[in-house]
Amino acid sequence: MELSSLSALSPKRPQFWQVAKRCCIIAAFIDVAFFVIFMLLDSPLLAWINLLSISMYLTAYWAYTTRKNTLATLLIWAEVLYHSAFGTLLIGWDSGFHYFLLMFVPAIFVSMSLKPAILSLCGLWIYYVSLDLFGWYYPPIQPIRGDALVLVHLFNLTVVFAMFAYLALYYLNKVSITHDKLRFFATTDPLTRLRNRRHMSELLKRAVESYQKEQRLVSVLLLDLDHFKTINDTYGHDAGDKVLKVAADILRDTARDHDKVSRWGGEEFLVFLPRTNLNHAAQVAERIRKAIAKYPWHTVINEKITLTTSIGVSELKPDDSVNTLVKRADDALYRGKEAGRNWVELESEASCRKPKAASSSLSD
Ligand code: GH3
Ligand code: MG
Ligand code: MG
Repeated sequence: MELSSLSALSPKRPQFWQVAKRCCIIAAFIDVAFFVIFMLLDSPLLAWINLLSISMYLTAYWAYTTRKNTLATLLIWAEVLYHSAFGTLLIGWDSGFHYFLLMFVPAIFVSMSLKPAILSLCGLWIYYVSLDLFGWYYPPIQPIRGDALVLVHLFNLTVVFAMFAYLALYYLNKVSITHDKLRFFATTDPLTRLRNRRHMSELLKRAVESYQKEQRLVSVLLLDLDHFKTINDTYGHDAGDKVLKVAADILRDTARDHDKVSRWGGEEFLVFLPRTNLNHAAQVAERIRKAIAKYPWHTVINEKITLTTSIGVSELKPDDSVNTLVKRADDALYRGKEAGRNWVELESEASCRKPKAASSSLSD
């Protein structure tokens, strides 16, 4: 066999090796049970075959633990192929030893790339059909009693059912872990671990749709850190990153449990406030503004700095889309910047809040 086709037998996925390792131990125990069964049935040849199988599975287990994965996989293949053939040829197709071969069908596709998997599948099919045809035309070489045959048949069926269920659970678990990871990466900002803009846009879209049906109150805050570029320029990008992470933590801590915080872009954050009207949203915004302004930022980057944020607030209206809702918060934010920063500005020009210490920037 060529080296390339040997390596095709070796599973490419590390988690699969763990499962294969566990299967080696389970299979070795099953063969111990077979050894006892065939000794009791007075079929020593079949019993000794199981002893060989036990030693093959234990060697395969050792090979997996020492990362000789190709050797381990070859041993498992060899064991299942020869054991199912011996069982079928010696005591007949009704023994059910051939069912073990079927377990390779899903395992082949999980453990190999597509081309060797298809080749292996074809080889397995030929092997299986050959055993089946043999059973049609030739009697068993060493038949056992009818009641013993039923016992072996039921035992094999049960083991195969249990192994299939175990593998199915493994595949299910693997798919759901992968799904969760993909979802996490698709919805989370890697720096701040807040929801990313895509995720927040989805939430806002759903909120707008449900508002149009049920008239539920929704407000948003759009925050932009003031003079953030100066932090990067003065202390470096890494310091800027640290500040962004802490700002995200402050937002998470200051927002209410049911509020949803996201990183909207660079140094901008969007907070989605369900069941909140404009005035209540302004109170939350003011709390956030104060929390950021009074935070001891020198502890983050070992330099004496102050940092503030400006916040625009808007409330969902009947004819709003996500864009118009966020646009009004953005316009308010812009006015807040114009008004001197460190500022909460509502969408309606009538009411805006100006803190006592209006200006904010790096202080020496
Ligand atoms: P203003 O008060 O008008 O908002 O001024 P500003 O300096 O905060 O705004 P400006 O838009 O000029 O600069 C934003 C800066 O944010 C520029 C960009 O390099 C920085 N920034 C964006 N994303 C990141 C990031 O992930 N990490 C760091 N360190 N900086 C970032
Ligand atoms: Mg900005
Ligand atoms: Mg800014």
